[in-house]
Amino acid sequence: MNYDTDIAIVGGGLNGAMMGLALAKAGFRITIIDSLTSKSQQDPQFDGRCYSLALASIRLMQALGLWEALAPNAQPILEIKAADGRAYSNPSPYFLHFDHHEIEEGPMGHMVEDRHLRPLLQQRLQSAANISYRAGLSVSEMAISDTHAQLILDTQEIITTRLVIGADGRQSQTAQRAGIKRTGWRYGQTSLVCALSHDTPHQGIACQYFMPPGPLAILPLKGNRSSIVWTESDANATTIMAMDDKDYLAVLQPRIGDYLGKIELAGARYSYPLDLTIAQNYVAPRMALVGDAAHGVHPIAGQGLNLGLRDIAALSEVLSDARLRGEDFSSLAVLLRYQEWRRFDTTALALATDAVNKLFSNDNTLLRTLRDLGMGAINRMPTLRRSFIREAAGLTGELPRLMQ
Ligand SMILES: Cc1cc2nc3c(=O)[nH]c(=O)nc-3n(C[C@H](O)[C@H](O)[C@H](O)COP(=O)(O)OP(=O)(O)OC[C@H]3O[C@@H](n4cnc5c(N)ncnc54)[C@H](O)[C@@H]3O)c2cc1C
Repeated sequence: MNYDTDIAIVGGGLNGAMMGLALAKAGFRITIIDSLTSKSQQDPQFDGRCYSLALASIRLMQALGLWEALAPNAQPILEIKAADGRAYSNPSPYFLHFDHHEIEEGPMGHMVEDRHLRPLLQQRLQSAANISYRAGLSVSEMAISDTHAQLILDTQEIITTRLVIGADGRQSQTAQRAGIKRTGWRYGQTSLVCALSHDTPHQGIACQYFMPPGPLAILPLKGNRSSIVWTESDANATTIMAMDDKDYLAVLQPRIGDYLGKIELAGARYSYPLDLTIAQNYVAPRMALVGDAAHGVHPIAGQGLNLGLRDIAALSEVLSDARLRGEDFSSLAVLLRYQEWRRFDTTALALATDAVNKLFSNDNTLLRTLRDLGMGAINRMPTLRRSFIREAAGLTGELPRLMQ
């Protein structure tokens, strides 16, 4: 059988790109196909998100030779504070406080801006020796047989491969084409995202206020800047997005309070409707899913990309170990090892973020009292607090080698 490539990856977003780099580093010949042009992904306005990346994710980026270029623009997260909040009032005095000094490994994570990460990945895809990057082309069909898989592009070109990896996001057609069903629901919430500049330094502290319509995260960026992930009901979000910058800030300011001093917008405003979507299987014959194609979660814990990066580290380890042992790396028996490793963890986290969102995104007095007492109690238990910090740093569970 003549294969055009060992592994074809559908989707060259953040997860598809890093999946490709990890497998190319392990010696596989890779083809990545993405509907978007590379130029569009390198536009600094392409995506307003900034990612809180756990320590384990940073280790993967170090292993892939990406971190050196990202580090100068990445902001270490030194502390995390979380409390109930309301517009025009101080946050609840019962809060959770995590300080990175409580674990030995250092900062639990870093804030990395999409406008730095995405262009770097695009450049690396274009220069990697064993990656053929086919940007601006869509996969329109997939055919699987006992000996190979074929992807048919919108140009009618056919790519024959041993294995297809679907990194094509929440509406993954790769999963659909493999007959994989999804479980999930819309949240009726939208995250409003922007970057702010402010007078008072943030001291590397990430804050999360649980407001009745949804969480408000204020995340430190390099310099006197912060990334805002402000979750509102869909209806509120539509109204707020329609406001001009001055009115937008006037609604935001009383939610943040005055701890950052005077705030100003430092770039464009974005909005992301939220849903939960989990694929019922992560693998099928000659096919595996990673990133949001496998599990799209609520951003309340800033874990979506971190989960995808752990998929990548796990899948590349399973595939390269299989090949070293002389096994057929594309066989279902091998792919099932990846599913076994990742599916429980990701589903548990997806459901936990769902439960936290439901528990905190309301103004029920009884629930508010109970969760305030809960946060106050956890804060007084150093062992439990440390285990939360290790979880946030991505250091719990069976860590793939690329993250050790
Ligand atoms: C408001 C918000 C804040 C977030 N904050 C954080 C955070 O702080 N930390 C964190 O870890 N995560 C965070 N996340 C989650 C993170 O943004 C996502 O998990 C991540 O961006 C998903 O990347 P992906 O590559 O899997 O999917 P996508 O970005 O959806 O990429 C899929 C790619 O596939 C391509 N594609 C689709 N179909 C085809 C086709 N048929 N042919 C060819 N190409 C195709 C698309 O063009 C696209 O480039 C946040 C999410 C939101 C909404």
